[in-house]
Amino acid sequence: RRSMACSRYEYVKSYEQDDRILPNVWIVIRVDGKKFHKFANVHKFEKPNDENALNVMNAAGIAVMQEFRDIVLGYGQSDEYSFVFRKDTTAFKRRAAKLLSYVTSMFSSSYVLSWPQWMQQPLSYAPCFDGRIVLYPSDENLRDYLSWRQADVHVNNLYNTAFWKLVLESGLTNQQAEERLRGTLSADKNELLFQQFGINYNNLPAMYRKGTILLRKRLLLQDGEQEKGRQAIVPIHEDLIGAAFWQKHTEILGK
Ligand code: ATP
Ligand code: ATP
Ligand code: MG
Ligand code: MG
Ligand code: MG
Ligand code: MG
Repeated sequence: RRSMACSRYEYVKSYEQDDRILPNVWIVIRVDGKKFHKFANVHKFEKPNDENALNVMNAAGIAVMQEFRDIVLGYGQSDEYSFVFRKDTTAFKRRAAKLLSYVTSMFSSSYVLSWPQWMQQPLSYAPCFDGRIVLYPSDENLRDYLSWRQADVHVNNLYNTAFWKLVLESGLTNQQAEERLRGTLSADKNELLFQQFGINYNNLPAMYRKGTILLRKRLLLQDGEQEKGRQAIVPIHEDLIGAAFWQKHTEILGK
């Protein structure tokens, strides 16, 4: 009978570990696509930036923030997304495995659901994402984390933009392009793009250069005669390294 069976076997439950995250720290979850270098090739992503593929990522990021209301900020670039939970969240009793597995699986399934909205080609196989939790005790640590991710997209995008120009427009082989760029500084790559291709790097789409920040904002909507407030998750493509961003969006750090 059920109760007997339960009492006999139930002790195995006690083998589960308590993984509640300590209070009063920023909880950051980052997901990253598995072997997306290959995934991008198989699905013929435009190089170096497939805008629609980024839109799929952003749609999945928004879906995660709609589901988990205690996320105050999302940040996406390339095949990764970071989510920052309120410091004082009590979601899922702050249990690490619950938080991490819900966010990662919600992201993955939303990515697949959003795919046909943006991409012509059907999915050839099921994409998957790894996930990790990192805790940051101070606001400064959190800002440095996000700055690190945004600096990463800048470095990669500048390199990739120059690389693919050399390959696709100057006809260099991948190896020749690599050699051409070896040892160059940011200023050199900016100069190369400008001199050889007439491109002002700073005029490229901000989503490629800065990634996508998802914030919760109150929008005022006109409903007939009435103005109505509504919460929305808004994508922006601003610099978050400088102080200006944090002065403008004071709600993130809650001050
Ligand atoms: P890992 O499994 O270790 O994460 P990976 O191949 O996914 O390996 P990443 O460092 O995560 O390696 O890099 C993701 C790669 O996915 C990029 O280097 C790029 O080739 C490709 N990619 C992701 N998003 C886009 C996009 N929007 N447009 C073009 N290529 C993209
Ligand atoms: P939690 O989020 O805490 O897991 P839950 O509603 O998923 O909540 P579970 O204890 O996991 O609770 O129970 C899963 C429930 O899903 C079952 O009680 C049943 O109602 C439903 N369910 C799952 N699979 C089936 C199925 N194949 N046929 C009918 N109902 C199912
Ligand atoms: Mg990786
Ligand atoms: Mg990856
Ligand atoms: Mg990546
Ligand atoms: Mg269940």
